[in-house]
Amino acid sequence: VNFEIVKPSAELIGMTVNAHIDEHGVLIPGTSCEGLIEDAGRTCYRSEGRKTQDSYKGFIERIMKRGHLSVVEHASATIVFVTDRGVTHELVRHRLASFSQESTRYVKYNNGPIKIIEPPGLNDAQYLLWADGIDHACRRYGDLLAAGCKPEIARSVLPNALATKITVSANLREWLHILDLRTSEYAHPQIREIMFMAEQLLLKVAPTIIGARNDR
Ligand SMILES: Cc1cc2nc3c(=O)[nH]c(=O)nc-3n(C[C@H](O)[C@H](O)[C@H](O)COP(=O)(O)OP(=O)(O)OC[C@H]3O[C@@H](n4cnc5c(N)ncnc54)[C@H](O)[C@@H]3O)c2cc1C
Repeated sequence: VNFEIVKPSAELIGMTVNAHIDEHGVLIPGTSCEGLIEDAGRTCYRSEGRKTQDSYKGFIERIMKRGHLSVVEHASATIVFVTDRGVTHELVRHRLASFSQESTRYVKYNNGPIKIIEPPGLNDAQYLLWADGIDHACRRYGDLLAAGCKPEIARSVLPNALATKITVSANLREWLHILDLRTSEYAHPQIREIMFMAEQLLLKVAPTIIGARNDR
């Protein structure tokens, strides 16, 4: 077998939360991303004294409604995606995000079948054509390595469907923008698929901000 089909996925691996250093110099980490955004935003209005246990929600709803979005830049989230190289080529166009991606120069894909993402919507006949193309490409990759090519040269025959892992960090304003563009009906179906997964993760990080996405 020259290739193996794997599923696209998204996993949250980090987010910014509030924290402070106490009077003994000990770091006290918090747990709240939206609490940090409230703390940052209240600087604008000298309204720190109006903070309560759940005042962050109303505060954030008000700044979102006014378009005062620079405040939500104070927190970031990091998500690891497994998707194909065609999709990551689109993702890395988002200049305000930070990326670390598995390298086809340094990773040698000869340790078992090559991992491939199947595009959606293929009928049986289309699937056979597609699988034949992928099979040839993966076989020739192995042949080129066996003929002495370095991975960075042999990669030239690898298909867009090659599964790849990419870690993406962005602040919440940029995530809102990425979600807007990449969940839209005009976006590619495969980037939409992983962005709907990302939206579910980001709703856990910042439910008020991401939940208000469609009300802006
Ligand atoms: C449906 C769709 C189809 C596409 N088709 C193509 C295509 O055929 N070919 C192609 O090359 N690309 C294509 N793209 C990519 C697109 O042109 C953008 O490069 C990509 O969506 C990143 O968007 P962005 O620049 O808004 O975002 P980011 O780079 O994430 O930037 C966020 C925001 O920061 C601001 N910003 C960032 N950099 C600058 C700057 N230099 N100057 C001014 N403001 C800036 C802008 O307000 C921008 O919206 C497509 C994108 C979509 C969603």
